[in-house]
Amino acid sequence: MRHLLPWREPVPPDGTMGEPRARGRFGEYGGRYAPESLVEACREVDEAFREAWVDPGFRGALARLLAVHAGRPTPLTPAGRLSEALGVQLYLKREDLTHTGSHKINNVLGQALLATRMGRRRLIAETGAGQHGVATATAAALLGLEATVFMGERDIERQALNVFRMRMLGAEVIPVTTGSRTLKDATSEAMRHWVGATGDSHYCIGSVVGPDPYPWMVREFQRVIGDEARGQCAAELPTGVPDYVVACVGGGSNAAGTFAGFADTPARLVGVEAEGGAGAARGRLGVLHGCRSLFLQDDDGQITEAQSLAAGLDYPGVGPEHAHLRDLGRARYVTVTDDEAIGAAVRLARTEGILPALESAHALAWVIRAADTGDLPAGSTVLMTLSGRGDKDVSTLKELL
Ligand SMILES: *Cc1c(COP(=O)(O)O)cnc(C)c1O
Repeated sequence: MRHLLPWREPVPPDGTMGEPRARGRFGEYGGRYAPESLVEACREVDEAFREAWVDPGFRGALARLLAVHAGRPTPLTPAGRLSEALGVQLYLKREDLTHTGSHKINNVLGQALLATRMGRRRLIAETGAGQHGVATATAAALLGLEATVFMGERDIERQALNVFRMRMLGAEVIPVTTGSRTLKDATSEAMRHWVGATGDSHYCIGSVVGPDPYPWMVREFQRVIGDEARGQCAAELPTGVPDYVVACVGGGSNAAGTFAGFADTPARLVGVEAEGGAGAARGRLGVLHGCRSLFLQDDDGQITEAQSLAAGLDYPGVGPEHAHLRDLGRARYVTVTDDEAIGAAVRLARTEGILPALESAHALAWVIRAADTGDLPAGSTVLMTLSGRGDKDVSTLKELL
C-alpha cells in the first residue's frame, strides 16, 4: 500500500543507518566533543568495538547471552482486538518480555562484554529513573564486573526501589548533588568520573547519545530489535514489510535499533517523543555530553529541563542520528502528551492484556491518534516497538487514576 503523506520518499539503500562518517558524524550532528583524556578513551572504545563487531567469537558470545540470559528472541505479537478497533494491523515487538523488562539489556550486555574484552574491571553508568542503572548492575553481576552508577539526588528520592535493586545487585550508587540533581547532571558527573578512571573502567552509556562511538555503537547493540522484527514481519505479515515502523524516543536507542532493521525498506519511520522532551521535534542545535545534536534550550542557549511522566523520555535532547534522519526526511518525529500516553497504556491493558511502560505508551498513543485522524490510513500495517513493561509505572499510575 502506498500513501501520499507529508514527508519525503524513503532514502534508497545508500548507507542510511550504516556507519557514520569520519569522527562519528551523522550529517552535521555527532562528533566527539570531550576533554583530551576522554577523546583518547573514546578512541580506544571505538577501536575495540570495531574489532569485536566483526569478530564471530564476540558476536556469538553476545548472541548466546542475549538468548540464555535476556530471553531473546522476543515475540512479535499481533494486537488483534486493538487492531480491529483502530482499523489498522498493529504488531508489537515485545522488548517488555526481556530480562529486566526493557530493551536496555541489549545494549548493556553488549557493552559489558566489550568491557571484559578490553580488560576493564568496572562499569560506570548514569541513570535517571534507574532503569539503565539496574540493567548495568545486572550485566556487571553476570560478568563479574563492578558497577558504579551516578544518579541525581532528586531521582534517588523519587526512585528508591530501583536504588535498592541496584544495591541488591552489588552496584555502588553515587548521589549527584549538582544542578537540577537529575539525569543531565548524573551524566555530566559520570563523564567527569570516567576521566580519572579510564584505565580500569568502561563508561556504559544508556542510549544513542554521547561522544563517538557511543551513538553508533549503542544503535548497533540495539539493532537486534529491528533485525529480529524484520525477519518476523517477513514471516507473518501479508505484505512482508510493515507500512509504518513506530517507536518512542528518549535518547532514541530503541527507535534507532528498530529503524535500523527497516532503513532499506519503504517502511515509514516514526519516532514518538514526549511533549515535554521533544528534542527531535523542537530542539535546537547544541553540544551536550560530548556530542552535537538537537537539544531543548532557552533563549540564551542554556539546555532546559525536560518534563515527562515517562522517566525514560525525560531527556532534553535526542541522539545525533535521529537529528540527521529528521533532516533527511527519512524519519518523522511527533509528540504525545502525558495524558494521551496514560490513555494508551490503559487501552492496551484492557484490549490486549499488556501493561506497557509509559515510554512505550507514547508510541501507542500516536498510533491511536493517527488511526483516528486518518494520518494512518485504514488497513495500514504498523510495527510498534513495545520498549518496556509497565510494572515500574504502576505506583505513578495509581496516584493519577
Ligand atoms: C529508557 C527507556 C526508554 C527511552 O530510551 P531510548 O534510548 O529512547 O530507547 C524507552 N522505553 C523504556 C521502557 C525505557 O526504559
